[in-house]
Amino acid sequence: MASFSRRDFLKTSATSSLALLNGCQPLLGKAASKAHVVVVGGGFGGATAAKYIRYFDPNIRVTLIEPKAKYITCPASNWLFAGLTTLEQLSVDYKQLKNHGIEVVCDRVVQINSEQRSVKLSSQQSISYDRLVLSPGIDFGWDTLPGFNQELSQRFPHAWQAGPQTELLNQQLQAMPDNGTVLICPPLDPYRCPPGPYERASMMAYWLKQHKPRAKIIILDPKRSFSKQALFEAGWKQHYGYGSANSLIEWISLADNPLLNLDAKTQTLTTEFGDRFRGDVLNIIPPQTAGKIALESGLGNNSAWCPVQPISAESSLVPFIHVIGDAGHYAPIPKSAFAANSEAKVCALAIVSLLNQQSISPANWLNTCYSLISPNHGISIANGYQINAENSITAVKSAGGVSQKTDASSLALEAIYTQSAYYNLRSDCFD
Ligand SMILES: Cc1cc2nc3c(=O)[nH]c(=O)nc-3n(C[C@H](O)[C@H](O)[C@H](O)COP(=O)(O)OP(=O)(O)OC[C@H]3O[C@@H](n4cnc5c(N)ncnc54)[C@H](O)[C@@H]3O)c2cc1C
Repeated sequence: MASFSRRDFLKTSATSSLALLNGCQPLLGKAASKAHVVVVGGGFGGATAAKYIRYFDPNIRVTLIEPKAKYITCPASNWLFAGLTTLEQLSVDYKQLKNHGIEVVCDRVVQINSEQRSVKLSSQQSISYDRLVLSPGIDFGWDTLPGFNQELSQRFPHAWQAGPQTELLNQQLQAMPDNGTVLICPPLDPYRCPPGPYERASMMAYWLKQHKPRAKIIILDPKRSFSKQALFEAGWKQHYGYGSANSLIEWISLADNPLLNLDAKTQTLTTEFGDRFRGDVLNIIPPQTAGKIALESGLGNNSAWCPVQPISAESSLVPFIHVIGDAGHYAPIPKSAFAANSEAKVCALAIVSLLNQQSISPANWLNTCYSLISPNHGISIANGYQINAENSITAVKSAGGVSQKTDASSLALEAIYTQSAYYNLRSDCFD
């Protein structure tokens, strides 16, 4: 990492590491015994918030509502394309969270009544709350590319919510002709996991190199540049012939020549200037918005994300509701599982403070994102964030950077860190 000093680290990670330093000790004392926090969504954000509210104050009753009995993590789901993992290995359940005294309800919230402070479930049951934490993740904007729609995502999978879509995309990759073409179409920013499409291309290329070396992956990117670009391109050059006539990966910026439509029958994408790209496998990743329940409940703004007061994560639009994770507007913090975990800890601390009539501590956040280019080649980016004088979030100067060392042993070490970062994060959220 670039100049990420111990002093910077301690300064920027204060809130994130607080809970770890305190172990299982209740931090802030005892809230009124009737205080009830309902958490909607058992992904990285929601699971962390539920767990840490109980750590900080075990007197608070916490109910977590999530429709899936098993949650499959998006982080590490790209590794499936390289044959390095299975969906089963990426699955977590909620048994450990129950051991923390969290009531886990396997259902979907269909309505939030912010006046009465209650949520309605699809089973018609109503649950009231003192504070609500909303971490519903993302939904998709389906109507932005003429010729493409939600139904067609069953043929041209986005695989941007890990599960059957990831499996389907992997099956298509394995079944395509030996000299076939994969088209990966990332969306414009902001979307969850900015380096995700490029790690996906890397993991697919790793598999193709061994099984279908005459195949090709073309990334049709609406952006001019992308996260960790120099590191990805160096890795692609080293492993996949990037830049040569036989490269397994080609990256094309369509910033000045955007995609105009999809002809689903011929599996061809056409650009504004008439360029045509036919794919055997089409991985179309649509633009994203905050999860539907957040937007339907009046928590979203024009950009389709949910504005929050950074210090407490409380919605700027609806009181007593806190929004964390991908659904929240936390820019410049990227939308990642690591960031969702950090936002959830800030939120948990704020809620416990509010319920105990205590002042809220200043907030700091961390984001780290590792990607694999091959099983022995990892790269990373990290940053710390704080609140500035205008009460918005800003990156802490010099408190971050990208991988600096390019020798094989450092890159192999980063690959090991990539795996341990995944398991540590997962454990901090769900165990
Ligand atoms: C391919 C890929 C790779 C990635 N790799 C990384 C990585 O390496 N590192 C990293 O940090 N991040 C990574 N991410 C990003 C990461 O997955 C997300 O940022 C993270 O999952 C966000 O957490 P969340 O809690 O906001 O949403 P989610 O994890 O999506 O959880 C939302 C949960 O809410 C539930 N929900 C939705 N609506 C309702 C409702 N109405 N009622 C009840 N429950 C509801 C859903 O079922 C879901 O379980 C990756 C993403 C992708 C797509």
